[in-house]
Formats: sequence, C-alpha cells, structure tokens
Amino acid sequence: MFDTLSDRLGGILDKLKRRGALTEADVGEAMREVRRALIEADVALDVVRSFTDRVKNRAVGVEVIKSVTPGQMVVKIVHDELVATLGSDADPIDLNAPAPVPILMVGLQGSGKTTSTAKIAKRLTERGKRKVLMASLDTRRPAAMEQLATLGKQVEVATLPIVAGQSAVQIAKRAIEAAKLGGYDVVMLDTAGRVTLDEALMAEVAEVKAATGPHEVLLVADSLTGQDAVNTAKAFDGRVGLTGIVLTRADGDGRGGAALSMRAVTGKPIKLLGTGEKMDALEDFDPHRVAGRILG
Ligand code: GDP
Repeated sequence: MFDTLSDRLGGILDKLKRRGALTEADVGEAMREVRRALIEADVALDVVRSFTDRVKNRAVGVEVIKSVTPGQMVVKIVHDELVATLGSDADPIDLNAPAPVPILMVGLQGSGKTTSTAKIAKRLTERGKRKVLMASLDTRRPAAMEQLATLGKQVEVATLPIVAGQSAVQIAKRAIEAAKLGGYDVVMLDTAGRVTLDEALMAEVAEVKAATGPHEVLLVADSLTGQDAVNTAKAFDGRVGLTGIVLTRADGDGRGGAALSMRAVTGKPIKLLGTGEKMDALEDFDPHRVAGRILG
C-alpha cells in the first residue's frame, strides 16, 4: 500500500542525507516535496500540514549529534513524526473484561467486515487459545449470514444458529446468552453493512451497542477508498463510538492516505491490517514497523 509514497519519500530524503551541513532553505525545500508526496498519497490536508510543520519546527535548530549528518537527523525526525501520526504504539484487541467479551464489528458493505470477523476469530482461537462464538446480525441479507457460517466452518469457529425473523438486537442478545451458556470467552457480532452511510444503519448499530455493551467496537474500513474510509470512520465514531479500526486491502495498491490520516483525524487506533483474502492474511498494526516500511 505504501510503495509509491515510500519511493517518493525515500528519494526526497536521500537528497538531504547526501549533503553535509543543511540550511533552513534545504529543509524547507525538502518539506515542500514531502508535503506534495503526502497530498498525492491522499493524506488528509490538515494531517499533512501539521505533520510538515512539526518536522520543520523540530528540524530547524536541532542539535546535531556528532555521529550523524544533519540530513540523517532530519530523516530520523520524519520517521519519529510518522510513528506519532500513525499512533505511536501497537494497540492490540483488548479482551480484558469478563467473559464472554463482546466485540462489535461495524462498517460499510464490501469493506471486508465479515472476512475480518472470521480472521480475528481464527486468530483469537489459535494464538489466544480463546473459545469464540460468531454471530451475523445482517437480517436483510441471508447471504451474509450464510457467508459467516461458511467462514466459521472453514476456520473452525462456532457460529450462532440462524433463526429467521429475529431483529439484530434479538440476535445479538441471543448470541450473548448462548456464549454465556456455552462457556465462550469472546462473542463477535458482525453487524449489517450498507452501501452508504445512512441513518437507519447508524441507528441499528447504536441500538445493538446499547443492548450488548461491547468491549471493543471495531470499524472495518477499506484502505483503497482513501479519504472516504477516513470520513466513514469519523461518522461511525461520532454516532456509535469506536474503540479501533481494522484497515483492509493493505495488500492492494492504495496510496496509504487512509492509514496515515486515520489516527490523526479520528483519534482512534488502527489495530489490525487486512492483507489478503486468505483467513490468515491479518497483521497487527505496528506504527514503528509501518513507518519503517514507508521510509524504506
Ligand atoms: P463485507 O460486506 O464488509 O462483510 O465484506 P466481505 O468480508 O464479504 O469482503 C468482501 C470481499 O473483500 C471478499 O471477496 C473478501 O475476500 C475481500 N477482502 C476482505 N478483506 C480483504 C483484504 O484485506 N485484502 C483483499 N485483497 N481482499 C479482502
């Protein structure tokens, strides 16, 4: 996802590294190019502006340690500020609550919500040794319920039996009851997606949240949709309240803008990256590693 941005930033910063003493003009010129590269990568304008301002303020008048050149210092500052923009530390899914811990999965249709639900369930089962129950709350699309059941079989995670005619809230409550009775550690609720952000979707998700008190509310957003993904996150956070974000299609040729803007715009951490269609194509989002990948 960061290939183009990585090439651009690498080129700009390499020029700085080759010089001995840097002038303010050198840094200014490099920051103008960094700014252009970030805008082309579809990073939100406010985020670009505050990022380049922070780098410039720190770079000008920086004490250069003897062992590195001023150019290398600037590269280090850019790296540190990228890490800060991305959220500083990895922020894994938090299961620190009484079992069964409810996790609510929300997002637009096609974002990869159902796939991510099954991927996370698989990971919690295998690596976390947790007993997980998944339930689809998509009452309007029987195919979505079937899809979760099929994925559940594939990853060997239990899914709540489908009962026709129940509302999303009724299914969610039944899932939590079943999880209690069955001694499950985690219950994952896959809410219905819609093609667009509409009030009916938000109201239903808010109602399910109020009825179940989830410990995590994870938005699944498609990184290929760039700033739209960020706006979706802002809308869901404002209406429902999120605890984190799963950014999918990080394996695609997205320009990286969504990943870079998400934390700064919403204040919510990206917790996981979807990196493919396979059930184990899921990575922890580690700001240090991602910043390293961007700078090459
Ligand atoms: P939902 O409507 O949000 O539940 O979306 P789905 O989970 O059904 O996913 C839609 C499509 O995107 C499916 O074909 C998935 O295999 C695919 N998909 C989901 N996550 C990823 C990802 O991280 N990378 C890629 N390449 N495809 C993904």
